[in-house]
Formats: sequence, C-alpha cells, structure tokens
Amino acid sequence: MSESEKYFRYLVDEIHTTIMATIDETGLPVTAAIDMMDTDGESLYFLTAKGKSLYDRLLSKPFVSLTALKGEDTMSSKALTVRGSVRELGHELIPELFEKNPYMKNIYPTEESMRALTAFQIYKGSGEWFDLSKRPIERASFDFGTDGDDETELRKEGYVINDKCIGCGSCVAVCPQNCISTDSIPFDIHASHCLYCGNCMNACPAGAVDRR
Ligand code: SF4
Ligand code: SF4
Repeated sequence: MSESEKYFRYLVDEIHTTIMATIDETGLPVTAAIDMMDTDGESLYFLTAKGKSLYDRLLSKPFVSLTALKGEDTMSSKALTVRGSVRELGHELIPELFEKNPYMKNIYPTEESMRALTAFQIYKGSGEWFDLSKRPIERASFDFGTDGDDETELRKEGYVINDKCIGCGSCVAVCPQNCISTDSIPFDIHASHCLYCGNCMNACPAGAVDRR
C-alpha cells in the first residue's frame, strides 16, 4: 500500500468530513465542510451540487486545500492536510458514490434530486500527516498523482543540519521533541518526529541548521 493510499483510506473511512478551502473571484479563500466519498489510493473523490457557489469556484480555480482531523482533544488528534488540483468527472460517478456512502440518500432521496450533483477528483498534489497522539509526535509528507516535476510536487519543509555543525548540543537542549540524533557530527534531525518549531536553528551558534 502506497503512503498516499494509507492516508487517503484513513481520511475516507475514519474521518470522512473535511474542511476544504477554495478561492473565490476576488482571490480570497472560502472554506466549506466537504465529505471525502472515495479514494483509489492516488486521488480523492467528492461531490457537490452544480447550484452551489463551491461548484463555480472549483471550475474557475480548480485547486483546493483541505484539512481533516480526528481525536477527542488536541493531544489525541491525528490530522491530515491535502492540497492539490481538481477536475470535474460529472454525474456518472454519483450512483457509485451513493452506494459507498448510503447516508447521502437521506440528503438527496430521489433520482431527480440527485441530478443536481456532480463528482470531482483531487487528482494530483501533496499531503501532510500529523499525529499528536504519539510520543514523540509523528509526521509524514507525501505526493500523489504527480510525475516528479510537477508544480504541485511535494514542497519539502522542516529543518536540516549541515556540515558546519560543531556538535555543541545547543540545538538538543531546546528541541521539544528530542528528535535530534547526536550519534555523529553533523547531528541529524529525525524529520518524522520534528515539530518544525525552529528552536534548533535559533539556538545554533554555528549557522548549521537550515530551513528547507
Ligand atoms: S525544528 Fe523544533 S522539533 Fe524540529 S528538530 Fe528543531 S527544535 Fe526539534
Ligand atoms: S547547535 Fe548547531 S552546531 Fe551545535 S550541535 Fe546543534 S546543529 Fe550542531
């Protein structure tokens, strides 16, 4: 199972409802609660009605960013953020999406009422997984549907230690996640547990911590 499939499956099956941002005609973001109806592992599927302003925004600027999280409180939450390009697939997929999400029949109970609906696919982009329920925290970044040189290819974030490191330990003292390995010089940051807080860079006397 690919990384994107693992996270998309969790999003569709365990979280389901996301907060999705689109861009309006003035260039400002607008958010809406949107259910993720299905995934093929490399993309996500959702639907909307053609009469909604969301539909117009998706057509005029076919790009979305969404966040979804699950947990009782902040420290038990797993969160997923996805940003990427969308395309309209039309009405053909609606019956299949209804079959997989039977609750939709309560909202659009008849064939006639379903005619307003159209399906969209988030087909390429990047995602970020953040699990605050683990100690240390766990994070991961992934691409989906890209060919490696696409503009939506994963934008790597975080911090790395370069060869200027003198092994003084100042970064280790201020790291809230204990995710800096001191086994060898230069020290090494375990990105999968890093908060991206920047403490290490601010504390380093040698300019050995770079922000990606
Ligand atoms: S960015 Fe913060 S959490 Fe990550 S290694 Fe530096 S101090 Fe630690
Ligand atoms: S503070 Fe800078 S020089 Fe010191 S151990 Fe950390 S990265 Fe290396």
